[in-house]
Amino acid sequence: MNDKLNFNCNLCPNFCNVDRRTLKGACGATYDLSISKYGLHYYEEPVISGTNGSGTVFFTGCSLRCAFCQNYELSRVLRGKTISHLELVDIFKSLEDKGAHNINLVTPSHYVKQIAKAFEIYKPSIPIVYNTHSYETLESLKIIAPYVDIYLPDLKFYSPEISKRYTNKEDYFKTATTSISYMLNAKKTVIENGLIKSGVIVRHLILPLCVGDSKKIINWFYENQKNGAYLSIMSQYTPLIKNEKLPELNRKITSKEYNAVLDYALSKGLENVFIQDLSSASENYVPKWDY
Ligand code: SF4
Repeated sequence: MNDKLNFNCNLCPNFCNVDRRTLKGACGATYDLSISKYGLHYYEEPVISGTNGSGTVFFTGCSLRCAFCQNYELSRVLRGKTISHLELVDIFKSLEDKGAHNINLVTPSHYVKQIAKAFEIYKPSIPIVYNTHSYETLESLKIIAPYVDIYLPDLKFYSPEISKRYTNKEDYFKTATTSISYMLNAKKTVIENGLIKSGVIVRHLILPLCVGDSKKIINWFYENQKNGAYLSIMSQYTPLIKNEKLPELNRKITSKEYNAVLDYALSKGLENVFIQDLSSASENYVPKWDY
């Protein structure tokens, strides 16, 4: 493969076609791997964090860039440190040595080629979690698929109007559900001794004024779930910056919104569900970045 094909990036549905050796695409990333933090993380679903913590690596940049991003310093301010794929291998090893239950790759989509290169050198003996906003192409998912044990995809919006308002992408639901369907077909969910070993957990964050949209997401999961997948309903939305243009985002969700979504999920008879307590909506749960 020549350099042009190798580096002109069309990995995600933004299809920037920029040469990332010298330019940044919409994700804010050049070809150089950059991370904002790594370490043991205790605030994922209990089957991911367990008692020892999830060995989390937060990658810098993001190809979706939601207006309400809970990790905006990473996705928009682009706080991070450049590392080589060999240094990423060392990070995997150090997280394993610390007793991590898994390696949790957070927002890795725009670096799948470099991460795959690290796995070619060293594949940890603990499960690999692919933690994504789901705005992916199947081509990029197939690059990393041989190394992934657990998919942790968000399903953020149903309505094209809402996804356009918060991400400027009308095709989010169609694109994300294509990605998640691929994941649901690929993995059977297996939980042993309280820890997930393989499978899919679809995450949905409840947003202010979006109860109707959340219900449609729950409907989609209900109709498309397979292979023992779980739904994780998250209540942790916390406004981190004052948003003048999107004032509805300047508050947490109310207990009325939270209960309406939970009651709906329970009314569907879903069994494989994680439900986050409303008290999780706090800045205390937002990571402090290292770089
Ligand atoms: S990964 Fe980044 S550079 Fe590549 S297409 Fe997506 S946003 Fe553009």
